[in-house]
Amino acid sequence: MQTRTPTIHTEAPDTSGFIPRSNSLAGSVYEAIFAQLMALKIPPGARINVDHLVRELNVSQTPIREALGRLEGEGLVVKTHLIGYSAAPQIARRRFDELYQLRLLLEPDSAARAALSMDDEKLATLREAAGVMGRRDGTDERLRYSTFARQDAMFHDCILAYAGNELIRETLNHQHTHFHIFRLMFHSRVTEEALDEHEALLTAFAAGDASAAEKAMRVHLEHSRDRLLPAFD
Ligand SMILES: [Zn+2]
Repeated sequence: MQTRTPTIHTEAPDTSGFIPRSNSLAGSVYEAIFAQLMALKIPPGARINVDHLVRELNVSQTPIREALGRLEGEGLVVKTHLIGYSAAPQIARRRFDELYQLRLLLEPDSAARAALSMDDEKLATLREAAGVMGRRDGTDERLRYSTFARQDAMFHDCILAYAGNELIRETLNHQHTHFHIFRLMFHSRVTEEALDEHEALLTAFAAGDASAAEKAMRVHLEHSRDRLLPAFD
């Protein structure tokens, strides 16, 4: 089964898995369902009715089942015998805390290492990853949100790649962190503030300042965690 988990170990980060693929039908169907999951139009735990999607997206069952299989590989969809597909359940508060603890242990240090290895090419890649989504530009909010979830995953993965520890990178990738976190809450504040924090990181990277990068990443993760905590109220 094809999944989006980056497993190619090249020197340059393989981010192809995070970029919407070709304009093929299967790709478009995947993106449509991904956006519905991210923006909670299909809420965590909800049954996913294939026939309903067939009517809504006006396609046959084949690309839908293909997309659902891919989303299953990404941990966003679960398939239950005799029941069918449903959206993965919301992560529990405890798991959320554990995830941020793990990220806080690994990502600030990785940002520091990445800053020390920074060059123009890497900086340009990071700038692109951080900025592609841009600010509010009138596009569909739900699509914007799901695209940001993917961009954020890519941005953080790039930093881990430049930090140079593949085990750490794989460990965090394996958690599909960003997809689960972004499903906690569908709110524009989540993206707007994160963009400011990404800019602070870019400034530190541009200066090759390891301690500033470490601090900016710590602040970003702590703020990100605090922004999402109300989802558990
Ligand atoms: Zn981020």
